[in-house]
Amino acid sequence: MARIVMKFGGTSMAGTERIRRVANIVRRQQAAGHEVAVVVSAMAGETDRLVNFCREANPLYDPAEYDVVVASGEQVTSGLLALTLQAMGCKARSWLGWQLPIHTDDAHAKARIEDIDSEALLASMAAGEIAVIPGFQGLSPANRVTTLGRGGSDTSAVAVAAAVNADRCDIYTDVDGVYTTDPRIVAKARKLSHVTYEEMLELASVGSKVLQTRSVSLAMKEKVRVQVLSSFIDDDAPAADTLPGTMIVSDEELEGLDMERQLITGIAADKNEAKVTLTRIADRPGAVATVFEPLAANNINVDMIIQNVAKDKGETDVTFTVPKADLLRTQALLEENKDKIGFFRMISDDKVAKISVVGVGMRSHAGVASTMFKALADRGINIQAISTSEIKVSVLIDEDETELAVRVLHTAYDLDSKDEAA
Ligand code: ADP
Ligand code: ASP
Ligand code: MG
Repeated sequence: MARIVMKFGGTSMAGTERIRRVANIVRRQQAAGHEVAVVVSAMAGETDRLVNFCREANPLYDPAEYDVVVASGEQVTSGLLALTLQAMGCKARSWLGWQLPIHTDDAHAKARIEDIDSEALLASMAAGEIAVIPGFQGLSPANRVTTLGRGGSDTSAVAVAAAVNADRCDIYTDVDGVYTTDPRIVAKARKLSHVTYEEMLELASVGSKVLQTRSVSLAMKEKVRVQVLSSFIDDDAPAADTLPGTMIVSDEELEGLDMERQLITGIAADKNEAKVTLTRIADRPGAVATVFEPLAANNINVDMIIQNVAKDKGETDVTFTVPKADLLRTQALLEENKDKIGFFRMISDDKVAKISVVGVGMRSHAGVASTMFKALADRGINIQAISTSEIKVSVLIDEDETELAVRVLHTAYDLDSKDEAA
C-alpha cells in the first residue's frame, strides 16, 4: 500500500463527464489498496473568466478581493468531484484551503505556502475516505483567502504530498508526460521517461507550463516523487503505479538508470516577455544601476540584459526584458527617472519571444550555443538578446518566428521522434 496524492488540471475537470472520468481513475487507485488525496484545478477557462470579472469590476483591483473571486473555481470542482465519487459508492469529502488549513504568506494573488496542517487529512485518508482538496488556494495570516499564482494547483499538490509524506505525487494533465518540447507545437516532440528536478525547474521557468515552477522547486526541496501523466486514458491503460508518464528524478537517480542521454533535454518558448532599449546612456560606473534600481524597488523582474560596447562619446545602449504585464509600469518608472538615468530614447517591443534549450549535458559539452545560433541563422532568424546559465541557453527573437525556431532547434539537436506516426 502506498500513499498517493493525485492532481487533476483544468482540462481534466472541464464538465461532469470529465469529472466522472477523473473519479474513475481515483477510485481505481484506491481499489489498488492505496490511501489517496486528490487536488483539483478549476474547470478549463474558468479562472480566466473570473479574472476578467475582476478587471471589469475594478481595473486596479485589490488582490485580496481578487483572491476571493478566483479561488471559487476550485471550490466548485472539489465539491463536484466529491459528489461524483460518492455517487460511485466511495467515501469522499472536500477540504477547502481554509478548512485544513493551508497556511500561506499574505502576498495575495501570488502567495507562498508556508505550512499545511495535515492531521485531519491523514485521519480522513486512514479511514478510507478520499480527501478532495481545491488547488490554488490557501489562508493568509490575517485569515483571508489567498491564491498561489496561475498554475498554482501543481504547487498545492506537491505541498500536500510533502505534508502527508506521500510516496508519490501524480500530476494528471492533458498530455501523457513531459516532452522534449510542447507537443502541441511540435508534432515530432518526444516523451521523456525521466527528467531531473533541475532540468524541469529550468524548463518550467523558461516557459514550459506543464508544471508551475514553484511546484518543481518545492518537490526538489522536499524530495517529493512527482510523475506527470495523462488523465485522458481508457480503463485498460497501464496503471499509474507502473509509471507510464514522466518521472522527475534526482541527478543520482538518473545516473543509476544508465539511459542514453541527449545533449539537450528540452526546448521551451515564452511569449510573456517584452524588450526595452535605452539609447545613449553614459558609459560610466553606476549608470546601469540607476536604470535597474527603480525596477527592483517595484518588484519588476528583469530577465535578459545586454549592454553594448560604448561607441563614441562614452555613450552606450542597454537592452533588457521584463514580463509583458509589467511593461507599462516599467516605461512609466524609466520616464520618471529619465533625468537621473540620462538616456536619449526608450524603445519597447512586446512582439518578442524567448526560446531556451535546456539540458544537464551542457555542463560537460561545448558547442551547444553555437549549434543554436547556426541553426537559427540558417533560417534567417535574427537573435536580439542572449542569456545563459549552467544548463540553459536562451535567445530572444521575433514573436512571429517562435514556432519555426522551436521546430528548427528540435531538429538541430536531434530530438525529433523517429516514430513514423509522429
Ligand atoms: P493543466 O490544466 O493540467 O494544469 P496545463 O495546460 O497547465 O495543464 O499544462 C499542460 C500543457 O503544457 C500541455 O497541454 C502542453 O501544451 C503544455 N506544455 C508545454 N511544454 C510542454 C512539454 N515540454 N511537455 C509537455 N507539455 C508541455
Ligand atoms: N485554476 C488556476 C489557474 O488556472 C490554478 C491551476 O489550474 O493550476 O491558474
Ligand atoms: Mg497547469
